[in-house]
This record gives sequence, C-alpha cells and structure tokens, in this order.
Amino acid sequence: MRTAAQIAADVRSGASSAASELELSLEVISRRNEELNVFLHVDEAGARAAAAAVDERLARGEEVGPLAGVPIAIKDNMCQTGVPTTCSSRILEGWRPPYNATVIERVLAAGAVPVGKTNLDEFAMGSSTENSAFGPTRNPLDPSRVPGGSSGGSAAAVAAAMTSISLGSDTGGSIRQPAALCGLVGVKPTYGLVSRYGLIAFASSLDQIGPFATTVADAALLLEVVAGHDPRDSTSLPEPAPTLVAHVDDGVAGKRVGLVRELVEGADESVVAAVRAAAAALSAAGAEVVDVSIPELALTLSAYYLIAPAEASSNLARFDGVRYGLRVDAEDVTAMMEATRTAGFGAEVKRRIMLGTYALSAGYYDAYYGQALKVRTLTINAFNAAYEKVDLLLGATTPGVAFKFGAKTADPMTMYLNDVFTIPTNLAGHPALSVPFGTGEEGLPVGVQLLGPGRSEAQLFAAARVLEIADGRP
Ligand code: GLN
Repeated sequence: MRTAAQIAADVRSGASSAASELELSLEVISRRNEELNVFLHVDEAGARAAAAAVDERLARGEEVGPLAGVPIAIKDNMCQTGVPTTCSSRILEGWRPPYNATVIERVLAAGAVPVGKTNLDEFAMGSSTENSAFGPTRNPLDPSRVPGGSSGGSAAAVAAAMTSISLGSDTGGSIRQPAALCGLVGVKPTYGLVSRYGLIAFASSLDQIGPFATTVADAALLLEVVAGHDPRDSTSLPEPAPTLVAHVDDGVAGKRVGLVRELVEGADESVVAAVRAAAAALSAAGAEVVDVSIPELALTLSAYYLIAPAEASSNLARFDGVRYGLRVDAEDVTAMMEATRTAGFGAEVKRRIMLGTYALSAGYYDAYYGQALKVRTLTINAFNAAYEKVDLLLGATTPGVAFKFGAKTADPMTMYLNDVFTIPTNLAGHPALSVPFGTGEEGLPVGVQLLGPGRSEAQLFAAARVLEIADGRP
C-alpha cells in the first residue's frame, strides 16, 4: 500500500486522480469487508462526490491540500453530515448527524476523501471491538484475533490496506492499543490539540481524536491537518496546529529518555524485549536512556475506571428515546426511556453507566470520584516531575500481542488490564504514541510507546522515526 504522502503527491502531480485512488480503496473494501467487518457504513456516493470535487479543483489549477485525493476511514463516533453514525450502538441506529465534526471539515479541506465509518466497541468502551452491537472486527494480520479497540475498525482499515490513514479516538488507549495490535503507528495527542466538536462524548476530560498510519510521517501529516484551535470546543488549546512533518527527521541526539519500570512490568517477554531493544536503538541514535520509576502509575487504572464511567454516565444520559435514534414505545415517558435504554445499550455500556452513577452518588462521591480525582492530580504531578529530568518516556503499549476472540471476555477486569500502560497518559492529558517495533508470539507485531509532556508531539514523532528506521522501515 502506498502512503498517504505518496498518494497525495501522485494526485497533485496528475500521475493519479482522486477518483482512481478512491476506486482502489473501494475495491479492497468490497473484497475484504465482509470477512473483516471493518466498515459499518461505506459512503460510496459521498466519497465519489468528494473525490470528484478534488479532481475538479486540480483541473482548475486550484491549490488542493496536503491530503489531496487520499481515502480516509473514520471511526463511527465522529459526526459526518447525513452519514449514519452509530457508535456501534443500537441506541443510535438510524440517526444521521446534521453537521460535520471539526475533524471531518479539516480532512475535507485538506483534500482527503472520507470513505466510510468504522466499527468500534460500543461508545468506545472496550479494547477488542467485541463490545460492538454489530459484531467484532477481525485483525487483518490474523483473522482469528482481535484488532484491539476501541478503534479496532479504524486500525483494521489501514492494516488491511483499505485506506492508508484513518482517525480514531483515545480515552484510555483506544488508538495506541489497536495500533500496537495491528502493526501501525497510532497517536494520542495532547488533550485539547484536536477539536472534540462532533466527537460523540465518552469521557470528555479524557477523549482525544488522533491518527492511524503505516508510517510515522503519515501520522504526523494527518495530525497536522486535524490539529489546531477550534472555537467550537471550549477545551481546545488556543494556538494553531504545530509543525510536525518538518520535524520527523530531527532525531534524538542529546535527548534524555526515561525507560519507565511501571510501563513494562508484567508484560510478555517478547514485549519487554522489544522495549529494551527500542531503548538500545534510541541510545545508538544519540539519546541518553535512563531507568525511571513512577510508582503512582500503579493507581491509575482504578482511578480511570471511576472517572471515565462517571463522565460516561452523565454524557450518555442524552440517549433517552426522544432526541436520537432508537425509541421503544411504552405507556408513559419514564417507561419509554427505560425501555429504550434497556434495549439500546449493550452490557458493557450499562455496566459503565451503573459504575459511574454509583461513584457520583451522594454519600459515595468523596470516597470514589473524589479519591479518583486526587489520584489524577498525583499522576499529573508525578509525570511532570519525571519530565523535569528527562525529555521523553518509553514503555510498552500493551502487555501482549493481539489476542484471540473470547480470550478476555470472561470478566471485565481482564479486558480493562489490557490498557494498563496506556491509561496513565490520558489522565495526565499528555501526548503518547505507539510505533511498531519487532514481533512477538507467532510473528505478530509489538508496539512500543513513547510519552512526552504536553505539546511534545514533534519530539515524539522524531523519536518514533528513529525506531521506525531501526526496525527496518526506512
Ligand atoms: N479500553 C478502555 C475502556 O474501555 C479505553 C477505551 C478508549 O480509549 N476509548 O474504557
């Protein structure tokens, strides 16, 4: 598969066209989507119109953006005008948003062609896409295994070469974890760097949209396109998009990198080996790698599973049978709402709503939600203290490689533990990315995670590029 940068260059030079790039993408989708269940909806007509518009602009000699004619897949929790948007939930079935998310507007303005909406764990709650109401997505590298989650469809779209890039959302790891399991680059940007306007909220203080790509440069390119201030999101950072692509080859000479003990402990042998090899590659490229311990990170999983459900229980109150999608009629309004929510939400979503409502209820608020907020502050302080001594942190993205269907569904905790290394950054609001490095069990990809302080994306991409080269992908 060609990279997004190559496709855009070919379309701009006239060697290819947006229309023909789209047909290539649609051809792979039609061949593989039935087996892999990547797209919940393919917007053929809308994509053809968007591609034609790009080709017309080019024919008129107009400036077309950096993603000219590049097909892109969109996680189905981002609103696109007139295109069914479900969050993989029955409760939104039939709903078509009347507006575009800011990220949709920005990829369109950059010349990209959204081809359709990808599968996810219902309302982005999960780590395998097994919580989707529309069936799980299969990992293109081994269809007997999960692609990770919750953005499993967006990861699988790129891993199956249906598109070269896609957008996902990451609340506790939902971009980095599936990127690791599908052998891709995946980025969780600094909180506020990418507008959440039009992203259907799971846990608003944690949610961030970010890119999936096959190369570090493509991930930087897509993030540059979607980042930057948006007045329609009150938590949006006030500055314009940072320059990222131009810094991808900056290297790591003179940088200090901390290998975090708590972000490796308990991982499979192959994952530990990959992280150590990544540390060696960074030091061979001129970085100074030191061992770091941040004991506070042991508390973050518990804090996340109070804060995220608390926010979710509030955000998901809007799905009441009145405003959106599904309605199950009953004798009065209360009974209608109860029947709608009972039929519309899946088991994991109900579990989160109950957990969150309990954690926020009078009498328990201080003991649960209040405590979790204190842990969040400790986490932020601990990361900040670490970043006084080092520029970047290094760890594993996931404890293991892509797992088999059903391997972690027996009890919720087993699934939650798959995000133990990704959750801390979300609580801190800092950026982190996963880059493929080496292989594990059965030759499946392993991802290593790079973390940095707020707005350090350019440095993260430069370090990831060093690892990409060391891993044999020049
Ligand atoms: N797997 C985590 C959860 O279930 C994180 C999900 C996400 O980042 N959206 O909450």
